[in-house]
Amino acid sequence: MDVTSFGIDHERLLRGIYVSRKDTVGNGVATTFDVRMKEPNREMVLDTSVMHTIEHLMAVYLREHPVWAEKTIYVGPMGCRTGMYVIFKGDLEPQDVAAVIRESYEYMAAFEGEIPAAKPTMCGNYLDHNLGITKIECRKFVDEVLSCLKPENMVYPRQNG
Ligand SMILES: [Zn+2]
Repeated sequence: MDVTSFGIDHERLLRGIYVSRKDTVGNGVATTFDVRMKEPNREMVLDTSVMHTIEHLMAVYLREHPVWAEKTIYVGPMGCRTGMYVIFKGDLEPQDVAAVIRESYEYMAAFEGEIPAAKPTMCGNYLDHNLGITKIECRKFVDEVLSCLKPENMVYPRQNG
């Protein structure tokens, strides 16, 4: 049942939405998605301030979503700075979440105003945000990847595969 990202070939990995792992938790399953915004080792990585702003905005978008709020467990940045992890309740595939992930990026690309929870009482590094570049990165990801997902943007390339 459990699927892990071990053995994926990062040299051939593209941008997209991948199942990083599925974990059995109690009687249910939690699916961790690899929302890969940059081709590993071939593209410039995301700025930490941009990943931080995406973390705040995507978390708010999903936690206020009429359908997905109750399924959303976690949103957070990858240490390698090439994408985000999003964990949902349920045994899910990229096709199941492609629409809501795209909507969340459209929301971020169009976001105006104050970044939610970017205050010293609510955030561990509240000055380290960059909404302007976040909007550019999110627009680019929608236009170049999320609006035209192909199988290779949803299935991991395997080592020796
Ligand atoms: Zn923060």
